Amino acid sequence: MTAPNAQDFAPQDPIQDSIAQRLQLIQAQLPPQVRLIAVSKQVSLEKMRLAYAAGVRDFGESQVQEVAHKHSALSDLPGIRWHLIGHLQSNKVRPAIELFDWIHSVDDLKLAQRLDRLAGELGKTPKVCLQVKLLPDPNKYGWEVDALLQDLKLLNQCQHLQILGLMTILPFGLAAEEALRAFEQARELADRIRGLALPQIQMQELSMGMSGDYPQAVAAGATMVRLGTILFGDRPLAGTR
Ligand SMILES: *Cc1c(COP(=O)(O)O)cnc(C)c1O
Repeated sequence: MTAPNAQDFAPQDPIQDSIAQRLQLIQAQLPPQVRLIAVSKQVSLEKMRLAYAAGVRDFGESQVQEVAHKHSALSDLPGIRWHLIGHLQSNKVRPAIELFDWIHSVDDLKLAQRLDRLAGELGKTPKVCLQVKLLPDPNKYGWEVDALLQDLKLLNQCQHLQILGLMTILPFGLAAEEALRAFEQARELADRIRGLALPQIQMQELSMGMSGDYPQAVAAGATMVRLGTILFGDRPLAGTR
């Protein structure tokens, strides 16, 4: 008996194949105007490089610290864009402005005003979304609808922010029809805010939909879906929201 030569079994990287295949399957279901944000929190640099090689340019992360490291480790990848999708603590606002192209998780007025002030100091104009809760959920950050409507006047004075839309995260475990209805409410809220024609507040983006509910989000008009598990597989720890 001769021992099998390892090279005969060589190429084929199952992880690479599966990320590229999953990406292809997901992209095939997304309308062309919907941007896929690959949520790479707790995902290795190696897997992120594979996703990049398969065509991903937008990566979503929930922690500023994790990105501080990844940002420099992946600085050789042209055109990569970083999206903050997790709660931003006030003491991390400055590095967040420097590291991220988009901040989806602007979740209260004080944070928006602090971002605005520091962005002005740094000479930046970050792209942001306002995080809103369509359904009551004590475990999540974000404005309730009425509170957001009340704060719009002051948000409209945040001249260094490009306020481009809304972001929402639904409570865990909704039925598909409930999720669809909540996402439609987000779209209606964006339409309503757009109707106010506040010069500093645009409503062209709807960041909504995760692995479990993105088909409903797309049906309701999402422009950005944030997908982690379905692309990279399960995370080692329970996802931070
Ligand atoms: C983790 C996370 C996601 C991705 O969740 P999956 O269910 O793995 O797709 C999307 N959005 C936010 C805000 C997250 O924290």
